[in-house]
Amino acid sequence: MRCPNCKGKDIGKIGTNQYYCWNCFIELSIKDDRFCLHQVEPDGSLSSLDDLFEEEERKIME
Ligand SMILES: [Zn+2]
Repeated sequence: MRCPNCKGKDIGKIGTNQYYCWNCFIELSIKDDRFCLHQVEPDGSLSSLDDLFEEEERKIME
């Protein structure tokens, strides 16, 4: 599986259906066969990046 943002494969599993891209530092979760993307803010909160991506781009790629 590849990161929808950087297309990298440097993705680590951090929980059930939760992944982290070590290349661009975003958190990925999987919902309905799509990635949900979140950026971890310096204060530890998450902000959604889904608006920045098209549906197609959020499809899970092997
Ligand atoms: Zn990435």
